Amino acid sequence: MSLSYKEFQTIAVGLRPNGKAFIDGEFCDAVDRSTFVSSNPATGEILAEIAHCKAADVDRAVSAARRVFNEGTWSRAEPEERKEILLNVARLVREHKNELAVLESLDTGKTINDCLDEIGGEVPNFFQWYAELADKTFGKIAPTGPGAMALITREPAGVAGAVLPWNFPLVMAAWKIAPALAVGCSAVIKPAEQTPLSTIRLAELMQEAGVPAGVINIVPGFGETAGQAIGMHNDVDTVSFTGSTEVGRLFMRYSGESNLKGVGLEMGGKSPFIVLEDAAINDELIEHAAMSAFWNGGQNCSANMRQLIAKPLVEEFTSRILERVKAFKLGDPLDPATDIGSMITKEHKDMVMGYIQSGLDDGANMIMGGGSDLPGHFINPTVFRNVTPDMRIAKEEIFGPVLGIMAMENGEEALRIASDTDYGLHATVFTQDVDRALHIARALPCGTVSVNGFSEGDIKTPFGGYKQSGSLARDNGTEALEQYLQTKTIWLHTQAKT
Ligand code: NAP
Ligand code: MG
Repeated sequence: MSLSYKEFQTIAVGLRPNGKAFIDGEFCDAVDRSTFVSSNPATGEILAEIAHCKAADVDRAVSAARRVFNEGTWSRAEPEERKEILLNVARLVREHKNELAVLESLDTGKTINDCLDEIGGEVPNFFQWYAELADKTFGKIAPTGPGAMALITREPAGVAGAVLPWNFPLVMAAWKIAPALAVGCSAVIKPAEQTPLSTIRLAELMQEAGVPAGVINIVPGFGETAGQAIGMHNDVDTVSFTGSTEVGRLFMRYSGESNLKGVGLEMGGKSPFIVLEDAAINDELIEHAAMSAFWNGGQNCSANMRQLIAKPLVEEFTSRILERVKAFKLGDPLDPATDIGSMITKEHKDMVMGYIQSGLDDGANMIMGGGSDLPGHFINPTVFRNVTPDMRIAKEEIFGPVLGIMAMENGEEALRIASDTDYGLHATVFTQDVDRALHIARALPCGTVSVNGFSEGDIKTPFGGYKQSGSLARDNGTEALEQYLQTKTIWLHTQAKT
């Protein structure tokens, strides 16, 4: 059973968040001893001083990761050993889920319910799922004549870097760390500057679980300092990035200007939610429409913010979604009754408010929402109707709670407008006709299509984007391992002898 508001507040009062870097098994200050602060966006309260890592700290972390990789204590350990230790990580995260969820909620402004869902479920499940793959990832033997045996073997890529966003801090850390460590890489992780606390705490738990010194290193800092230093480092073999398309582009450039490291990119989106005229506007559809847009306050890369509704259904859809969205409660993220927490920063709130203004300027009809009078950086869930494809709110990623309803003539028009974007992360389609569902799902240029419900899939299914939403790399599923593995061919010349 979940705890009460009061119990979460008690946990919050007792927390002493650690803001140190974690390098080679030790918590430490930045080399130059500089710090920045991480605060609670809902209250402005400063939660901890954070070590401000820069190139010199990234250097230390990468050399520790390289040393342990070369020693082989993790990279060449029995796979069962890595499995056991990563299963311990899963267990410890579960045991500490309330504490971690409160820490995450304070650092991000996310609701405690969402933090608990993520940290009680997805995060430990990730460690468990990839732990179980550690001793089940096989190479291949190619067909050859009798004169050779050709072994196609998989080896860990080496030192893996990861640079993370602030919207799902611990989930994103788990998405990168679990597959990287399962196959034997050592890792250097930069959490987002706004949300480093849960990742630093995870490092403590990983050490307790038995992960050897140097295998996991956390270098909190800014993008331009620690992030760039990871991207440009000549001894990082592969880097996995989640964040904006703008910064993803830089990681391609860093690779080209340094050692041509592998680059896996998961970036932004402007995902459509298509309702064809044969769909039934019922409670279930409305729940999916509302959650697809307003889950995590819309600060979600696969948020379905363009809702393309068949013309005959627009009136009914609009009144039903308004009714549902009005029931969302904004408030203290630690209160389990809260549905939508704070935007991450004042700057981010201002940017989202700028988009709301642009919707008004472009002639869209705002039927609910706008700012909020609550202290902190709250924005009421906002719904526009009469949105047209040329408007900025229909084209650009807003990353806040701003939904645009667009009326569609038919499925063909919906498909054309849904596809007419540089992004390609996600789409949802509602129809009762399985032929139309499959045809549209196949035709949409995006990484995940969800039919008759909004979902990003789960741990077993790869997640990533087409076009400028991603590189060919995928997180999740067995596909995620590809970001952290090299392929080696061993061609063994043989002779027929007894
Ligand atoms: P961001 O600005 O791109 O930041 C992401 C990470 O990159 C942060 O750790 C950031 O450091 C770092 N960074 C910033 N500038 C850098 C630079 N010049 N060199 C190296 N690293 C740099 O994105 P965000 O605002 O944190 O997150 C929102 C974006 O992430 C949205 O576009 C969203 O769609 C996307 N996202 C995508 C997915 C997915 O799976 N596809 C999931 C979640 C979010 P700082 O901490 O200093 O900013
Ligand atoms: Mg914070």
